[in-house]
Amino acid sequence: MDLHEEGCCSGFHHGRRAMLKSTLGLVALGAMGVTPLLLPGFAEAAALTKAQRDAMTPDQVIALLKQGNERFRAGKLDTHDYLAQKRASAAGQYPAAVILSCIDSRAPAEIICDTGIGDTFNARVAGNIANDDLLGSMEFACAVAGAKLVLVMGHTACGAIKGAIDGAKLGNLTGLLDKIKPAVEATRFDGERSSKNDAFVDAVAATNVRHTIDEIRRRSDVLAGLEKDGKIKIVGSMYQLVGGKLEFYA
Ligand SMILES: [Zn+2]
Repeated sequence: MDLHEEGCCSGFHHGRRAMLKSTLGLVALGAMGVTPLLLPGFAEAAALTKAQRDAMTPDQVIALLKQGNERFRAGKLDTHDYLAQKRASAAGQYPAAVILSCIDSRAPAEIICDTGIGDTFNARVAGNIANDDLLGSMEFACAVAGAKLVLVMGHTACGAIKGAIDGAKLGNLTGLLDKIKPAVEATRFDGERSSKNDAFVDAVAATNVRHTIDEIRRRSDVLAGLEKDGKIKIVGSMYQLVGGKLEFYA
């Protein structure tokens, strides 16, 4: 794919393009078959531009997040100049994706996918469930702000999943865990159906991601319509705490 045919960097002359160092923007260049014009160790950075983001397809955004996760796993993260990204994005943001993930301190989506300021919207709630407010947030991200991907990210050894399996009750947490319980019941599993069984916990987490995606499609006409029109994709994933791989379900 030719970058210029896509209009990805229209408005940028050669030298300016050489200065682009946004994580997603940079990888986008590579994904589009264009070698990024970067000097090693060059510290300048910029957030995603509207032109760059709009030129991406949902599948390209998925590919960029996968590549970011590969960098994370390899310990070869991009150099993020957060101050430059902050300056570049202050007047406007053009994130490529909205990620719905768990609050777990070990599963920070931006780090796992090696993204920077302005690259992704991030919604976090225990057990990565969808409720009206989260649906509204994701509708804003895609229908108003132009994100191309809804990524639901579960993770292994999830405490919220364990709590739902155990029927834990605590204040407002009880109602949240009730939203995960259908995934517990729907999970087919040969073996001990207990929060002590890591394999069962992870099987429920996978079911829960799929349930959340079903909920998004069923309860959000806005997002379901965008997906039907091919403007966005709604995709699940599972983050492995051991090893750091983000496995995509698409
Ligand atoms: Zn969790």
